[in-house]
Amino acid sequence: MTRSPYRFYYPNALPAEAGETIELPEGESHHLLRVLRLKTGTPVTVFDKDGRQWSAAVEGRGGEGEGELARLVLVQPEAAPHAEGPEVSVAAALLKRRAMDWMIEKLSELNVSTLQPLITKRTVVEPPRTAEGQAPVRWERIALASAKQCGRATPLAFSHPAPLGAWLRRERPRVLACFAHAGAGSAPLGQWLGDRAGMGLPVVVAVGPEGGWTPGEVELFQEAGFSGVSLGPHVLRAETAALTVAAACRVMLQEY
Ligand code: SAH
Repeated sequence: MTRSPYRFYYPNALPAEAGETIELPEGESHHLLRVLRLKTGTPVTVFDKDGRQWSAAVEGRGGEGEGELARLVLVQPEAAPHAEGPEVSVAAALLKRRAMDWMIEKLSELNVSTLQPLITKRTVVEPPRTAEGQAPVRWERIALASAKQCGRATPLAFSHPAPLGAWLRRERPRVLACFAHAGAGSAPLGQWLGDRAGMGLPVVVAVGPEGGWTPGEVELFQEAGFSGVSLGPHVLRAETAALTVAAACRVMLQEY
């Protein structure tokens, strides 16, 4: 069966039985009913927060007026496409809006599982004012749109922004951990990953702000057991560094 080009996100757990109906949330309903104007009977794909995926069909609409919700009937469970291999997480210093948006979209496409925004000494951007456990709506929206576009099983997840020191204390037990740093003690990223590619362990990579890490922060990383990795002789913008790291992990650690 050819896959439907229309992919929608259901933010709860999808039911497990064919023939059951669900209502999409408001944003997704708006996209289906008013932007794409899909007719009853159109085949679509729906995926949930746990990576379940079903082929489904538009059944009609519930709710009223502006609050109209798209109703789908589940047809058949599908295997969501996913890359084999260990999870890759990126911890990156908060960036200005445009760079942050771009980085979120690209990390999502490159199958990064979680983005941990970091507050570092040279971070110049204020952390978003959202409650613990909640990412800014804007970030969630970009991650969701990207998941729908690229077909990943679950959207990129966001951890709550944390100061570097506090985050490192939490991350200590991680086995494969490195930080991008153009210092003398850094190993080339490709070599560092190549030496670890067969281990099948999750990896976390930290990327600094435009002003770089302070010497004190480099020490903190070293104390926490993070290896310094170099991305070559040129100074990359922070968001380019994050993309490079994610692409390298994708190619070297995950099978697809
Ligand atoms: N002026 C800063 C440059 C920061 S670039 C400095 O001297 O450090 C922003 C971040 O991107 C850095 O903190 C680092 O994590 C990453 N980065 C950029 N280019 C890199 C390179 N060639 N090797 C390793 N990391 C790099």
